[in-house]
Amino acid sequence: MSLTGRCACGAVHFVISDEPLFTHACHCTDCQRTTGSAFVVHLVVAEMDFEIEGGTQMSTVATGSGAGCDLHFCTQCGTYLWCRYRYHQVPVIAVRGGALDDTNQVRPQAHIFTRSKQAWLQLSDDVPSFLEAYGRDEDWPQASVERYNSLGPVKIPD
Ligand SMILES: [Zn+2]
Ligand SMILES: [Zn+2]
Repeated sequence: MSLTGRCACGAVHFVISDEPLFTHACHCTDCQRTTGSAFVVHLVVAEMDFEIEGGTQMSTVATGSGAGCDLHFCTQCGTYLWCRYRYHQVPVIAVRGGALDDTNQVRPQAHIFTRSKQAWLQLSDDVPSFLEAYGRDEDWPQASVERYNSLGPVKIPD
């Protein structure tokens, strides 16, 4: 499978060449702020499966983990396309589901940080919800846990 996406102005395009390791909806206040919406849909993707073309710029922000997160935006239109949570010890990134060409190709496999979920938003019972983070080893499909663990140490660019 492959997934494609782009920024709002079209200067940046990306391809995800293999299945995401996991897809979740995050309802934390950081994701609410950066989306300007109720939650973000994040596709956790092996960096080697992600190809991007076009100019982007990065901004590093603080996160609840203390490790920080690098946010990547289209240089021209500012669309927020992907990020790297620095607490990951392997090269994985989070791609924003809303930037996909066909947003119906993915569905959240979990809702996280629902402690700050908007009160007016009703979640269905068929997808697991977590007040804070999930446990990757317990809550991801086994194949994704194994692939994650096989990706090797992260190389953070300067
Ligand atoms: Zn753009
Ligand atoms: Zn979040």
